[in-house]
Amino acid sequence: MNAITLLGATGSIGASTLDVIARHPERFTLHAVTASRSVEPLAGICARFRPRYAVVSDPQRLPALRQALAAAGAPTVALGGPEALAEVACAPECDTVVAAIVGAAGLVPTLAAARAGKRLLLANKEAVVCAGRLLIDAVRAGGGQLLPVDSEHSAIHQCLAGAQIAGRDVRRLILTASGGPFRGRTDFSGITPEQAVAHPNWTMGRKISVDSATLMNKGLEVIEASWLFGFAPERIDVVVHPQSVIHSMVEFADGSVVAQLGTPDMRTPIAYALAYPERIDSGAASLDFTRLGSLTFEAPDPRRFRCLALAYEALRAGTARTAALNAANEVAVEAFLEERLAFAEIAAVIEETLAAVAAPEPQTVEAVLAIDADARRLARRLVAGRCQASSEAQR
Ligand code: NAD
Ligand code: MG
Repeated sequence: MNAITLLGATGSIGASTLDVIARHPERFTLHAVTASRSVEPLAGICARFRPRYAVVSDPQRLPALRQALAAAGAPTVALGGPEALAEVACAPECDTVVAAIVGAAGLVPTLAAARAGKRLLLANKEAVVCAGRLLIDAVRAGGGQLLPVDSEHSAIHQCLAGAQIAGRDVRRLILTASGGPFRGRTDFSGITPEQAVAHPNWTMGRKISVDSATLMNKGLEVIEASWLFGFAPERIDVVVHPQSVIHSMVEFADGSVVAQLGTPDMRTPIAYALAYPERIDSGAASLDFTRLGSLTFEAPDPRRFRCLALAYEALRAGTARTAALNAANEVAVEAFLEERLAFAEIAAVIEETLAAVAAPEPQTVEAVLAIDADARRLARRLVAGRCQASSEAQR
């Protein structure tokens, strides 16, 4: 039996992971599940899967969680606070940690799991974007294994199987991008949050959906791929592939390109990582090649989608930059979702934040968190300034 701690159980990746786990009760049990604040859905999960622990990261929600667990008849112990997240991520009874919290909020428990030598299934790409080498070194020092959940990185992991990775065997990694809901759009004014989160191929959390619309998601994934597979930015390309059937590719030294295909369903990469190196049923539908029609490809437009270029620049500049890029993006996306910032201004807030960051390379998680906090403060000020300017213009 493989005992799993699922960080971010109430989210989109959380739900897909629970679906795969439920298909294989003989293989997997849940040790712990976590959420930010939503106690009712968390208690529902506990009633169904009966994990040992349920954690709300907001400690003020602990009494409500206790109540909800009792009402749902779940035999689960309630815990609260960020320390409890890290505690369930490195508990000796747990073998595997699925890191599916959104944003830099997932960094500390993800690092704790890595240090404790857990098998770490990483969906929380922001953790590796912020911490870079610190996370990779923690996995190595802990003696565990890191397996990607992001569909592109799962695809590359599958394409590389058996190859001598990061060596001369590989020419380049090719990440595919759907292009998001605004692929063909030239005017980005007046875009609403609802339009931005309506992804053409995937149903995901709101933050990653906006990241897909700005192409920042692909930028974060380039940074993630660089750390997970040990490739310099020059050897990672992005191609827009609107059908989201090819999830990514590897080009080898001899010119051969290996691609991984499948229906766009996160249960496939989740099942791959959960069972690796075995293969199990994920519930994903088969690809029907006779109904696919054509697969098309185009270059991303760096002028319209500035976030992708900003991510490449940050990766070249180092982890202080990628941590600041991530923090500014989180602030800008939240402001956009709360209608305090225009969609077209997300990239500008990030760019201006980055221009003001002058931190040295972080050597500790505390240094990363300090860069994150500084960049957030700065980005919030930039958002507030724009908010004021636009309301004055309206008057
Ligand atoms: P989501 O918003 O649906 O769920 C986020 C989860 O994190 C929830 O359980 C929430 O309670 C928890 N959470 C949020 N803020 C928190 C905080 N401050 N402290 C502790 N917990 C907190 O997000 P999602 O779409 O499931 O994405 C999760 C992660 O997986 C992200 O890093 C995303 O980039 C990555 N990812 C998602 C998809 C997808 O299809 N949804 C695909 C690839 C990668
Ligand atoms: Mg992805």
